[in-house]
Amino acid sequence: MTALSPRLLQATPVTVDHGAGSYLFDVDGRRYLDFTAGIGVTSTGHCHPHVVEAARAQVGSLIHGQYTTVMHRPLLELTEKLGEVLPPGLDSLFFANSGSEAVEAALRLARQATGRPNVIVFHGGFHGRTVATASMTTSGTRFSAGFSPLMAGVHVAPFPTAYRYGWSEEEATDFALRELDYLFATLTAPAETAAFVVEPVLGEGGYIPGNTRFFAGLRERADEHGILLVIDEIQTGFGRTGRYFGHEHFDVRPDVITIAKGLASGFPLSGIAAPAELMAKAWPGSQGGTYGGNAVACAAAVATLEVIREEGLVANAAERGTQLLAGCRDLAPRATNDAGSIGDVRGLGLLVASEFVTSDGRPDSARAAAAQQAAARSGLLLLTCGAYMNCVRMIPPLIVTAEQIDEGLAIWADVLAAI
Ligand code: PMP
Repeated sequence: MTALSPRLLQATPVTVDHGAGSYLFDVDGRRYLDFTAGIGVTSTGHCHPHVVEAARAQVGSLIHGQYTTVMHRPLLELTEKLGEVLPPGLDSLFFANSGSEAVEAALRLARQATGRPNVIVFHGGFHGRTVATASMTTSGTRFSAGFSPLMAGVHVAPFPTAYRYGWSEEEATDFALRELDYLFATLTAPAETAAFVVEPVLGEGGYIPGNTRFFAGLRERADEHGILLVIDEIQTGFGRTGRYFGHEHFDVRPDVITIAKGLASGFPLSGIAAPAELMAKAWPGSQGGTYGGNAVACAAAVATLEVIREEGLVANAAERGTQLLAGCRDLAPRATNDAGSIGDVRGLGLLVASEFVTSDGRPDSARAAAAQQAAARSGLLLLTCGAYMNCVRMIPPLIVTAEQIDEGLAIWADVLAAI
């Protein structure tokens, strides 16, 4: 008898029958409020009618039109439509399937365009699970342990994670930029550094937003040394943070962004966007793939962008995010007992995390897991994150209503009182 790998862990006990909007329904008909959104993927909710209709129509006319063999309409339409929302100047697109592939494409482009070998990533970042992207991932050793040698040429600088250091954001930012300069002086000369690869908000690393001064510091150094600033918008893109892209909060100009997740409402589709002049520096043959830019995924992405615009989902993410963050902050004191407390509640838009710590301030992954499990039993699906998995994160779909946020917070209130 065959079975799934025992290492394929499942965060909730749910076997899904179907999804609709902000809810999932299990095979026994039980309803769950889904504040996981497939790890930030189903931003238009489960099976949004407009997305379903677009995908259905596309399945009936063309499923796979391999894009280095033939061109197809949904890919051209998506490319054009993305121009309405992409950051100014990022007018050239390459499409792949997964986030990891997009990050690898950005890495290849950065190395080929600059002729330099090294990249600098930021501590706590997550960029994927392939060998190259696992080498760039520092949000937990579980993603890179046991299959060394990893890819060479990756250096790690601090991210301004103020809460972890126990500093103000100002102090953490000063430290991060100072250490970055120290890295240049000691480990990777600027002339050998191709790119910074950075998330606007550390995602898997614990939902920790960057800040304007930090990103200004990166931009300044990038400009000074001819280093490319690659912003990984895979989890933060397409309205998730209350702006179209997370970096817009920090007033910074990226050279390349990576996109995936919220782009296609659940169909596997990813990509990179860069100025045409830069994209042209990718070497011949370095961009391709059997499934990239799949026709059904592209049709779903076009419909997704229409839904985001027509339903005002970016503004909704900002408003509901403010509601969710405030609600989680109000409820956090309920978690305080002899064992510990919620030490920090943070986020941006509809990315909100509550970090559990013991009474002496150490990460409390056991209590975070207990809270996440208790929430699932009570009909609210959540995930954990952070290096120690001691943060419980909420990532509702962008269509979430004020009433559904209240519904989730009511369950969260009971969970915190019970664990
Ligand atoms: N970058 C970021 C910021 C992500 O959040 C993720 C996925 N969590 C990835 C890259 C990798 O994406 P995928 O799992 O589709 O390869």
